[in-house]
Amino acid sequence: MHKFFIEPQNVTETEGKILGDDVKHIYKVLRLSEGEEVVINNCEGKEYLGEIKTITKSEVIVNIIKKLDIDNESKVKVHLYQGLPKGQKMDLIVQKGTELGVIEFIPTITARVDVKLKGEFKKLDRLNRIALEACKQSKRSIIPQVKEVIEFDEALTQLKNMDLIIVPYENADNFGIKTLFKQLDKENIDSNNIINVGIIIGPEGGFEESEINALREQGAHIVTLGSRILRTETAGFTATSLIQYELGDLGGRLL
Ligand code: SAM
Repeated sequence: MHKFFIEPQNVTETEGKILGDDVKHIYKVLRLSEGEEVVINNCEGKEYLGEIKTITKSEVIVNIIKKLDIDNESKVKVHLYQGLPKGQKMDLIVQKGTELGVIEFIPTITARVDVKLKGEFKKLDRLNRIALEACKQSKRSIIPQVKEVIEFDEALTQLKNMDLIIVPYENADNFGIKTLFKQLDKENIDSNNIINVGIIIGPEGGFEESEINALREQGAHIVTLGSRILRTETAGFTATSLIQYELGDLGGRLL
């Protein structure tokens, strides 16, 4: 069944109003008609089964039949702080990160970021659109957000609020996520509580040692992702996959 994401203000307990590009898509491409069932999502995790009531060129009104008990979100909320990458790499980072359960992407200016790149991150609409499309494809319930660019010091402050901070570092000793999760207090982590995990990834030039020291002081776990150097756009989703495997739902449930 087709699913549409609607701004929360356009969804009530009885009706949803679909606007924008989805309208044309509904009548021209999908050729849906009045009376057909669809799923609507209020962008904040609530989903409803509905029936199309009216279709015009500017809006589609959906009568809500019932609230659905669907939640495809992992209990592990990954906040990905990404050192600003060059070119179109952020597109890939947002698309793949969304599929893997990243809850927000925060482009971050670290010491080795080319500051001229900051200008390219002024318009976040396109990246947020990529997140939305990846969300639809992967059937997530919540659309992750691409946030405004921040400085490294601000990232340090925000990371203080995380339950766990993980920093893949190209010069890390042979201490990896496998050992980290053996050492952590699994009792707290294995419960069904939501866990907020902050991951910060260096840009193409990597991290300065002073940045790693500052992160360590914040309680971050500095880890290796193996002996091969991954591209900056590969590192974030590799780390996210490993964490979702260890703590989240990527490995399925133990039967
Ligand atoms: N310029 C650095 C070098 O030559 O050593 C490599 C930086 S790498 C392209 C970009 C970022 O990805 C790193 O700062 C780190 O966060 C992450 N990364 C890539 N490979 C890694 C690995 N094997 N272990 C840990 N982190 C890695």
